Amino acid sequence: MGGERFMGKVAPFVFKRRENGVDDVMIKILYCGMCHTDLHHINNDWGITMYPLVPGHEITGIITKVGSNVSKFKVGDKVGVGCLAASCLNCDFCKNSEENYCNQLQFTYNGIFWDGSITYGGYSQMLVADKRYVVHIPDNLPLDKAAPLLCAGITVFSPMKQHNMLQPGKKLGIVGLGGLGHIAVKFAKAFGLHVTVISTSPSKEKEAKERLGADDFLVSTDPKQMQASARSLDYIIDTVSAVHSLGPILELLKIRGALALVGAPDKPVELPSFPLIFGELTMNES
Ligand SMILES: [Zn+2]
Ligand SMILES: [Zn+2]
Repeated sequence: MGGERFMGKVAPFVFKRRENGVDDVMIKILYCGMCHTDLHHINNDWGITMYPLVPGHEITGIITKVGSNVSKFKVGDKVGVGCLAASCLNCDFCKNSEENYCNQLQFTYNGIFWDGSITYGGYSQMLVADKRYVVHIPDNLPLDKAAPLLCAGITVFSPMKQHNMLQPGKKLGIVGLGGLGHIAVKFAKAFGLHVTVISTSPSKEKEAKERLGADDFLVSTDPKQMQASARSLDYIIDTVSAVHSLGPILELLKIRGALALVGAPDKPVELPSFPLIFGELTMNES
């Protein structure tokens, strides 16, 4: 849209939201997390940015207005908005509350809403959102802490749930201790798992154990440490977005263990087949 002159530059931008429709709620934005996706879009790393862009899809705030068809929310409610702004509402996924798989999905920013307007995200003062893509935030969850759960949180929680990882006492490895990794540690500890953080940076051990409560720490570039922990983990969540080999990581899984890949390297990952075959391992992206 706006062209090259906006590329990669972050600056104030004045714009109007759409009118609050009958199914919409208006939200005063109080917090918005910063996701790595925002940076990719700002820099047009994926070649799909429509400038000018307003990033931000980890939004929390207070409802200031509700449309006449809205009964689930009222003015003053604490709410959150994640990555989704619209979907087709008609396909099997949409009907089954799995609209995140809809092939007409539109995102909170850099998407195209039903009325043809470009969507703008949460780095702004207010938002108009369709009620179907808004969630309540419970009173005992502070809005600043809730914001990152709306993308980073769901990114790691979803595979944990899908692959039945949330079992107390099971051993989970978390590769990478960035935005996704640290939330994964917190979730896993809250559900009573034994957590091993696997990182290339020995300096992260203190943070992993003392601040976040991880039980063990492995330096992935130390073959001795990695070998000593071979076949010791039930599950692994790999959050690293840099290109890296999955071979040594897969060796850490017990037989029939599962690895979920949630980082998004911009080049294909290297995936050796022997550990998968001999360990009867399962691998998933999500
Ligand atoms: Zn995100
Ligand atoms: Zn759909």
